[in-house]
Amino acid sequence: MALHAELHRHLGGSVVPRILWRYFHRQGSPLAERFPTYAEFEEFYTRPRNTLEDYLELHTLVEQVQTLETLPYFIYRLLRGAYIFEDLAYLEIRYTPYLRTDPSLDEAERLKQMRQVIETVGQASQQREYPIVTTQIVCLHSRLPSHINRAMVEAAAESEYVCAIDLAGGDKPYGERMDEWIELFKYALARGLKTTAHLYETLDGCYPQLLPYVSRIGHGIQIPLHYPELLPELARRGQCLEVCPTTYLKTGTLPSLEPLKIVFDRCFEAG
Ligand SMILES: [Zn+2]
Repeated sequence: MALHAELHRHLGGSVVPRILWRYFHRQGSPLAERFPTYAEFEEFYTRPRNTLEDYLELHTLVEQVQTLETLPYFIYRLLRGAYIFEDLAYLEIRYTPYLRTDPSLDEAERLKQMRQVIETVGQASQQREYPIVTTQIVCLHSRLPSHINRAMVEAAAESEYVCAIDLAGGDKPYGERMDEWIELFKYALARGLKTTAHLYETLDGCYPQLLPYVSRIGHGIQIPLHYPELLPELARRGQCLEVCPTTYLKTGTLPSLEPLKIVFDRCFEAG
């Protein structure tokens, strides 16, 4: 049996539609009324989106149901599927812990609960039945204010369950806050965390300023496609591109998998 490592699994995108649909119905969620039959829900959930932004709306839907109370259940389902159907031996789960806290609490309480969320996900990941080595990547979010992102870096650095931080939430708004991201990434590295960021996934998300501060690059496919002059630098720094082929069809980033041939050819050529 071949064993695999999964380096780019979003907790918000990792729930299979049938489990989510059943969950909505069991909870009597308003979404159960919107999608009375599973077929309707599956069609809605799995159809390709035109843009990354549209696609990320699905994550928002899932975030709302992944609360402190329900996370152990969703993690259990995730690990079960990963072990049985994907032969995973190693799994990095990424998500924004602040967005899993109760929005009715005040900010100070949410920040406290955020640390509980990280611990809960960490503990729920230790399943004897499905022994996958699991760690977490905490996603800073382009739509959250600076002090909350900083608090997430602090919480990540202080938890034994977290290996790295990421920057997610749609790449268009990164630019206007670039100084802030660079500063947070430098700080995370100084605290002993690894770093990754969703960069060069779409043509809107090309920010060379942040590249020196990421241990790995989330996607990065636009580099070999449109900025191949950056490849020698990436090779020198040993930066891995997290290429997620099926995602690009779902998000509308690529019309077909054809361009990935150029991605891989140019990366291999550059070493
Ligand atoms: Zn991603």
